[in-house]
Amino acid sequence: MPAATIIDGKAVAARVREGVREEVAAFTAETGVVPGLATVIVGDDPASRIYVRRKGEACREAGMTSFHHELDRDTPAAALAETLAGLNADPAVHGVLLQLPLPAPLDGDAMTSLIDPGKDVDGLTPVSTGLLARGTPGLVPCTPAGIMELLREAGTDLAGAHAVVIGRSNLVGRPLAALLLAADATVTHCHSRTRDLAAECLRADVLVAAVGIPRLVTAEMVGDGATVIDVGMNRTEAGLVGDVDFDAVLPRTRAITPVPGGVGPMTIAMLLRNTLQAARARAARR
Ligand code: NAP
Repeated sequence: MPAATIIDGKAVAARVREGVREEVAAFTAETGVVPGLATVIVGDDPASRIYVRRKGEACREAGMTSFHHELDRDTPAAALAETLAGLNADPAVHGVLLQLPLPAPLDGDAMTSLIDPGKDVDGLTPVSTGLLARGTPGLVPCTPAGIMELLREAGTDLAGAHAVVIGRSNLVGRPLAALLLAADATVTHCHSRTRDLAAECLRADVLVAAVGIPRLVTAEMVGDGATVIDVGMNRTEAGLVGDVDFDAVLPRTRAITPVPGGVGPMTIAMLLRNTLQAARARAARR
């Protein structure tokens, strides 16, 4: 078997971001509109703060305006709802991102559903979810959208391929399965109650692990020539590791993403693309 390709998510993400930057410049020159992304963070979770800061920086690098709202961890639901309503109504804001998880007792799903679906650049509102389930995607969640981009870059033939997705979160697994189905793959969806995970995985042409268990996917679970996408980001004593036992699995694969440097960098790149898409859709409606 030819040597496996290690899919370079950093390089693909850099290309996407450069493409968005150029498209933003052309869009702004044509319409006079500068796409704007508003991030909202509640509380002081350090990891969330880092993510939100990076999103703001990426936004400015792409030629977009970044708005940022920081709310105290004891902010009542009504006050957060008011902030979101203000952003929904603000014509300078094309994308609204509510950083999850929210501190208790705020309900992340309920609060996310208050975002105008036209500004739902995280693709997590019930409207975005419904459109995706119906096979007519609107704004698509960023990590699954990034995975589809990596599969395209790796030249993966999805039509008729057997894709196995492990994990059924609303953030990754479910929307990804819908995207793979829309790309004409035959999709098997696995989760914690799946009876024989190894047997399901072994039949995959495309195997995606989005679980959060270090090295859950071992070499015995991967068929020869499979394409393997590792979404897992697990902090261990050995550093950041994925859900796939990379070194053991690599020789069996046609292509595989590393951790770090695979799926991770794609999320912000797709967020920028979604924000431009939302700004374009708004401009077209005017
Ligand atoms: P999640 O909400 O915790 O969902 C995990 C899923 O894995 C659940 O559907 C669960 O099944 C399933 N699962 C748990 N144990 C299993 C087992 N032993 N066998 C098979 N399935 C099992 O996690 P998530 O938000 O989707 O994130 C998954 C991983 O991706 C995490 O490591 C996270 O850090 C990472 N992540 C990375 C990015 C990025 O790179 N940009 C973005 C998002 C997430 P049940 O539904 O039955 O409980």
